[in-house]
Amino acid sequence: MILCQVCGNEISMGSLICRFCASEQQDHLLPKSPFLQKTVNLERGRPSAETALRRLTLEIGTAKREGIRLLTLIHGYGSSGKGGVIREECRKSLDYMRLRKEICDYIPGEEYSSKAGPAKALVRRYPQLSQDKNLKINNPGITVVIL
Ligand SMILES: [Zn+2]
Repeated sequence: MILCQVCGNEISMGSLICRFCASEQQDHLLPKSPFLQKTVNLERGRPSAETALRRLTLEIGTAKREGIRLLTLIHGYGSSGKGGVIREECRKSLDYMRLRKEICDYIPGEEYSSKAGPAKALVRRYPQLSQDKNLKINNPGITVVIL
């Protein structure tokens, strides 16, 4: 359990911003935990959106039990067709899971860059992540889930 360095409320592992007082945490003061990454291809076998979503829920549960911190989902993209639908539905589900605190956060592939935003903060906290090639390609066909 981690406590906010400002207000003392509990904050979730992997989060650098306190959700109670919105203050940024000094990451050198946070306890380090082992960092494990995993990639899951939701497109494999060209599933229906429904099947892909069921797989998403299962994989998130499994990853949490395995102590995975960062789960990269491959869902494909496209303005029409299955890839686009799966991507949209996945992110809707992730929004809901984030609300229910089942996941810490997620970063859409097109915003997953070591140069800005939440991914930049993530790389600062987990330097080993800078090896992730997805950080360099703005890939809209993936979503990175922080557990
Ligand atoms: Zn706080």
